Amino acid sequence: MLLIKGGRVIDPASGRDETGSVILEDGKVRDFLPGNQAPKGFQGRTIDASGKWVLPGLVDMHVHLRDPGFEWKEDIVTGTRAAAAGGFTSVACMANTKPVNDHPEVTRYIRLKGKREGFADVFPVAAVSKGLEGKEMSDYAELAEAGAAAFSDDGKPVADSLLMRRALEYVKAFDLTILSHAEDPSLSAEGAAHEGWTAHRLGIPGIPAASEEVAIARDILLAKQTGGKIHIQHISTKVGVALLRMAKKSGLRVTGETAPHYFTLTDALLEGYNTNAKMNPPLRGEEDRMAILEGLNDGTIDAIATDHAPHDDYVKRCEFIAAANGIIGLETALPLSLVLLAGGKVTPSRLVELLSANPAGILKLAGKGTLRKGADADVVVVDPEAEWEYRREDVLSKSKNSPFLGWKLKGRAVATILGGRVTHSLLTGVAADA
Ligand SMILES: [Zn+2]
Ligand SMILES: [Zn+2]
Repeated sequence: MLLIKGGRVIDPASGRDETGSVILEDGKVRDFLPGNQAPKGFQGRTIDASGKWVLPGLVDMHVHLRDPGFEWKEDIVTGTRAAAAGGFTSVACMANTKPVNDHPEVTRYIRLKGKREGFADVFPVAAVSKGLEGKEMSDYAELAEAGAAAFSDDGKPVADSLLMRRALEYVKAFDLTILSHAEDPSLSAEGAAHEGWTAHRLGIPGIPAASEEVAIARDILLAKQTGGKIHIQHISTKVGVALLRMAKKSGLRVTGETAPHYFTLTDALLEGYNTNAKMNPPLRGEEDRMAILEGLNDGTIDAIATDHAPHDDYVKRCEFIAAANGIIGLETALPLSLVLLAGGKVTPSRLVELLSANPAGILKLAGKGTLRKGADADVVVVDPEAEWEYRREDVLSKSKNSPFLGWKLKGRAVATILGGRVTHSLLTGVAADA
């Protein structure tokens, strides 16, 4: 039994935002007591959360764990350790591993290794197409049976509209969602940065906003045509947000996510050919960043996901155009998201929706994203006032490719609990479990 005592418990799924104690037992949330109470005669392990926030464990619906195949960049153990340090208790990992997760054996391997050795629950996302080649559909029935949480070719777009149509029709049978890396590769072509003034001046070939927007529009129309569920990944442009808003207004079952870097950074960071500012979709302009913030404020964007993409120095310390896309994000997502509260439009409860309840809902992860009685005992204790520096030597990911190294951040996960087991702790007197 574990008692988390006297914190501000914020759980939008049950409409709770009040000071109280959460009691965990046998891997589940057993009870909630208001104020600073403990059950009568309680002798068990206690975490004092006074002055802190107690939230359902965060759910990252978009990470790359690089396992199997690229374990020198990251593996399921190091990736989930970084997740736990960032306050995450569940992560959904993309299929662009080696071998690609287009086979039930790969799906089962990821689930099993996550269960046995991981510091977060790992939900494998299987490939839409065999080998991510965009030609032939994977066997969705087999993959769903093996435990695929969703389908995505992320890393690559599904360029063929007919394949996307068929995929959306097929997943209806399993009530699963297609996660779409929305990009028209014929428009992004050899681009390496947002097509705008900065890239132009630096002589970097551009990726137009339209390469993403055309694909988002297509995906929305195909969702309308098929009735299949689509979720747009890493939305980075103003029109992308507007398209999603429009789709929702017309009642379509379309959802979308953005990543902390798209509401924190702009393409101004490309100065000096900073390869830690290179990602796909690319960092956009200030107008896009403001539109993403608006989409987070007004409920258009459903989730914040990291697109945690570990890369070793070898593929980042090179010429900008040749550098790999992506940045790590699991350990910085929470403080970067807490900044959203400063404007007063995003409430703490809305933030929990974005980081926990909604992604759990989109992926239909039973028992996740809430502190209701009977839910999984996945909890994060957050100190919203903690000030800290994100230093390279402290990064728990195997890869260190972050543009936020050296940043002074505010707010931090000080204890993370997965199924009742403490997977991360910065609190004195509270040791993490092995
Ligand atoms: Zn992507
Ligand atoms: Zn990705």
